[in-house]
Amino acid sequence: MGITKHRECRVCGSEDPITLHNLWYRGMYGQLCTACVLAHHPASFCPICFDVYDDTKLPPPHLRVMCLRCPSVAHLSCVYSLPSSSSSSSSTSFHCPQCSIPNFTFFNLNGGIIQKGNVITKDLAKQLVAAAKIASMSLHKAAAIARENAEKRATEAVMARKRAKEALDKVAFLMLKEAEEDSRSSSNL
Ligand SMILES: [Zn+2]
Ligand SMILES: [Zn+2]
Ligand SMILES: [Zn+2]
Repeated sequence: MGITKHRECRVCGSEDPITLHNLWYRGMYGQLCTACVLAHHPASFCPICFDVYDDTKLPPPHLRVMCLRCPSVAHLSCVYSLPSSSSSSSSTSFHCPQCSIPNFTFFNLNGGIIQKGNVITKDLAKQLVAAAKIASMSLHKAAAIARENAEKRATEAVMARKRAKEALDKVAFLMLKEAEEDSRSSSNL
């Protein structure tokens, strides 16, 4: 129950095994394809060079720029390196690719699936790596939380066992007392 043998992206249903990543997403363990991992973690990577940020290692404020419409964060230097049409504006008016390009999808292969004939460009490879890193970060985080919970549960289990033993001891004591009283009353006859 619960575990489906069938592997597919939980968001878009893609079945391409090469681009699927195991991760915790919205409190559930499952698979997301590369495009959906990137699309749903806009604050975790630069959408231009596909460097992944650790939670604690966002670029410093003077070297980063946030998308005006979503939580996407890009390197300021990457934004400046874009072709001139959009970079003439100041750093305050950045729109990430998802928010500025109609019908944009990350990891955009023809047909959406890696096949023998497809060439994985350097850009696509970077996106695949970025998604894999984001997925692994989510698993590490979940593992840390699970460890904490496991310790808590272990302590609770010890306490519960102790309480159970105390209850058993009490019952045993009462039974013994009862038996003593029985034998006393019968010997008095
Ligand atoms: Zn997907
Ligand atoms: Zn960048
Ligand atoms: Zn955006």
